[in-house]
Formats: sequence, C-alpha cells, structure tokens
Amino acid sequence: MAARRQKRRAQPHVPLDVDRLMHGVARVEERAGAEWHVQPISPRSATKAYVCPSCGGAVLPGVAHVVVWRADSIFGDRAIEDRRHWHTGCWRAR
Ligand SMILES: [Zn+2]
Repeated sequence: MAARRQKRRAQPHVPLDVDRLMHGVARVEERAGAEWHVQPISPRSATKAYVCPSCGGAVLPGVAHVVVWRADSIFGDRAIEDRRHWHTGCWRAR
C-alpha cells in the first residue's frame, strides 16, 4: 500500500490518465474516504440484469450504468470479483 501511494505521488500530473490506460476506460473516484474504480457500461455492453446496491432496483439490459469496485483494496483481484453494477444516477448521488 505504501509503495503504491509513493508510485502515485511520483506521477502527479496524469494519475487519471494512467489509471485509464491500466484499466481500460475505468476511472478512479474518491467516495467516503476510499478510492473506487468506476467503469461506464454502454447500453450495447449491458447485456445482463443486475441489482443496484444503492436502490435495490434492477439495472436492466440495454441501460447504461457503471461498474464500481474498490481501487485501494488490499484484496486486489478479489476486489474486482466484488465489483457491483450501479445505476449511474445512484452512484453519483451516493
Ligand atoms: Zn439504483
């Protein structure tokens, strides 16, 4: 964790662009003191229904939304397995 923070600090000018290169189109947002990867899903890519963890409603196929997972998790790959599909509005309002 400490090493990672030092690495980020060494790239102060383009941290979001670096993350975008490393993780496709996902960006990093900070919420509630934690960092999260936020990957927008286009309507064409939304082929399955999910349950939004914020409102408990369905994120239906064909609806643009975001996939969110912890960016600062010590569990690494497990954080990616734990990613959640949110309504875009629900994530922004969180
Ligand atoms: Zn929702």
